[in-house]
Amino acid sequence: MKKNNAISLNNFPEKGNKPAKVYKTICSELDMDGNVHLDLGSFSTTIMNPYADKLILEQLGKNFIDYGEYAQTKKIHDRIIAILSGILNVPNCKSIQGTSTLGSSEAIHLALLAHKWHWKKRQQSLNLSTAKPNIVYSSNAHVCWDKFALYFDVEPRKISVSSLHSYPLQEILESIDENTICIGAIAGNTYTGGIDPIEELNSKITEINSKNNWDVGIHVDAAISGFVLPFLKTQKKQWDFRLSLVRSINLSGHKFGLVYPGIGWLIFRDAFFLPKDLIFSSHYLEKPIETFTLNYSKGASMILAQYFSILQHGISGYKKIIKNCSKIAQTIRENLRQSDCFEVVDEGILPVVVFKLKSSGSIDLYEFQLHLKSKNWMLPVYDIPGNFEPEKLMRIVIKENFNSVMALQLCNDLISVYQNLNNDRL
Ligand SMILES: *Cc1c(COP(=O)(O)O)cnc(C)c1O
Repeated sequence: MKKNNAISLNNFPEKGNKPAKVYKTICSELDMDGNVHLDLGSFSTTIMNPYADKLILEQLGKNFIDYGEYAQTKKIHDRIIAILSGILNVPNCKSIQGTSTLGSSEAIHLALLAHKWHWKKRQQSLNLSTAKPNIVYSSNAHVCWDKFALYFDVEPRKISVSSLHSYPLQEILESIDENTICIGAIAGNTYTGGIDPIEELNSKITEINSKNNWDVGIHVDAAISGFVLPFLKTQKKQWDFRLSLVRSINLSGHKFGLVYPGIGWLIFRDAFFLPKDLIFSSHYLEKPIETFTLNYSKGASMILAQYFSILQHGISGYKKIIKNCSKIAQTIRENLRQSDCFEVVDEGILPVVVFKLKSSGSIDLYEFQLHLKSKNWMLPVYDIPGNFEPEKLMRIVIKENFNSVMALQLCNDLISVYQNLNNDRL
């Protein structure tokens, strides 16, 4: 009988296998995954310069937490915090504070935890209850906001949006009370690409705070736009630390920060807004290590890759990439509009095209999505959580690797799939 040489895949194998064979086996299986570069719904970076790849590979074994051993890596990390604090316009560059994270979710959880502590200390100093903290944000926020409320035992006051681009400012203001730890605002909405009216929010909350003797601050979720808005030619409205109540901002390095998945950033307005009790000091290998993260160990590679991207591109490089992505996004919008098959619904600020089908009643969007998949394009279909008739939307995120040839091909495919499905229905 012929011996079966295949690697057993579902058990911890009794005996090991040759690396080359293991590699081939895993690669063959992964070939069945979609092509990451054509995953148009995803915001995360899929390609970096070969020198970045080299740097990442060489530094893969480095555990970021071992500050004593890798003091230079920690210095580079802190330099990035200072650089990002600068582009986000912190008021005092002598009192900066921030941390790298695995992504924006961890950054948001940590930021909101800091707001919770800040609130708690103030309540205690005024002899007020700390039993029922709440957090106020809109229903079209990223799920990590709900996750924070659940995991960290804070009442979520999630305010429903009434249409695609509305921001429930009035309802948000009415939901604030003395137990509100923070208001959430989104610069670069995951579903619509929109930017909340943070300037207006800031001035209204300033009034409310002074009227009631409260101290409610704002956290800005800039997962998508943190590396975009500072590089746009015209920043029409203010959204960052230039606004007095914006106390913390998160950015996803692995989105438009141009780094592979696994890196996010949290930046505080001032070191004052990270309560000292939350800075965790541990004596492990050498000197005390002070951290403000959820995990202990973490690879250093993506932090270094972020530094690489910053130094490689510089402000002018980021500007150029964003400009190019925005131009391609605009071409796609125009093509979709002209085709008369689609309705473009985004506001055209970020390089993210959000659209829906025109005669959406007669074509099933999931079927549409499946036909696109057969042409290798991956596009998400989703609803926006809110109190209006759910509308199924699709999104195309234009990233650095996307060029105008691909854009044209994509538009042709979108239109032909639509027309074929529509003809089938007639
Ligand atoms: C992607 C995203 C997040 C979560 O970020 P991760 O880096 O994936 O953890 C949070 N908020 C918004 C607006 C996002 O788009």
